[in-house]
Amino acid sequence: MQLVAYVQDGTRHPGAVTARGVASLSPEFDSIDQLLTLSQDELQSAVDRGVVVPGAPRLDAPVRPRSHLWAVGWNYLTHFEEGRGKRGDDTSVMPQHPAFFTKAPACVIGPTDPLRLDLGVSRSWDYEAELAVVIGRPGLNIAEADALSHVFGYLVANDVTARDVQRQHGGQWSKGKSLDGTCPLGPVLVTSDEVDPQALTIRCLVNDQVMQEAGTDTMAFSISRIIAELSRGMSLSAGDVILTGTPAGVGYSRNPPVFLQAGDVLVSEVAQGDRILGRLTNTVVDGTSAY
Ligand code: MG
Repeated sequence: MQLVAYVQDGTRHPGAVTARGVASLSPEFDSIDQLLTLSQDELQSAVDRGVVVPGAPRLDAPVRPRSHLWAVGWNYLTHFEEGRGKRGDDTSVMPQHPAFFTKAPACVIGPTDPLRLDLGVSRSWDYEAELAVVIGRPGLNIAEADALSHVFGYLVANDVTARDVQRQHGGQWSKGKSLDGTCPLGPVLVTSDEVDPQALTIRCLVNDQVMQEAGTDTMAFSISRIIAELSRGMSLSAGDVILTGTPAGVGYSRNPPVFLQAGDVLVSEVAQGDRILGRLTNTVVDGTSAY
């Protein structure tokens, strides 16, 4: 199943993509949050009861977490290696455990929303296409072998990063990865029964040029490992979002570096074979504030 949040009369509603178009799951459900703990049969039944929405409604991010999102740094060895000597730190050995950081909820934007980048805040806006996971079944100390059963579904994210801000604040990354409106998410939340998370292709294009392309089979830390380590001593809840790292090809590691500019079209997608599970298309606009 493919769940979406569509916007009608300025309000978000939960929906599902069906052969007939987007079917509304409201008013029975207020948001996708209420669907995350349903069984497969209950969920299918809810989708079957959906009423098709006329036209092509605008889609928002399927989930809008109330608390911080989780994210993984350096989950592809190629991405770790490409930044060697360019990060301004002395990290020379790939970490033995996933690097975790958080992203503030206000960073989330919809799958086709403009990406408003404040050039007064940063001059080095960079892209990071990623697979994101949404937790369904809550858990604490989740075993790696059991981890995927806690996943409700998958979606596409771009962990757009202000590189200079990322490195200015004490050696942790949360500030440079939490700026308002910098994390496109969506467009569909594909339920876990339809996805093999280690057999996907992550792709990022800027102005139709492929900048990143890699298989999730080359992740250093599998989705199961990430969930097992993150949940160790720390409860995961339904609706928690985890971004799982970006592959090689980011802008700062290029020679010369490539940073996002107003007018750029950023496309982020995840494919399973020939099937596109999701594609974000966000146009960069100058969001410089007055200071
Ligand atoms: Mg990232």
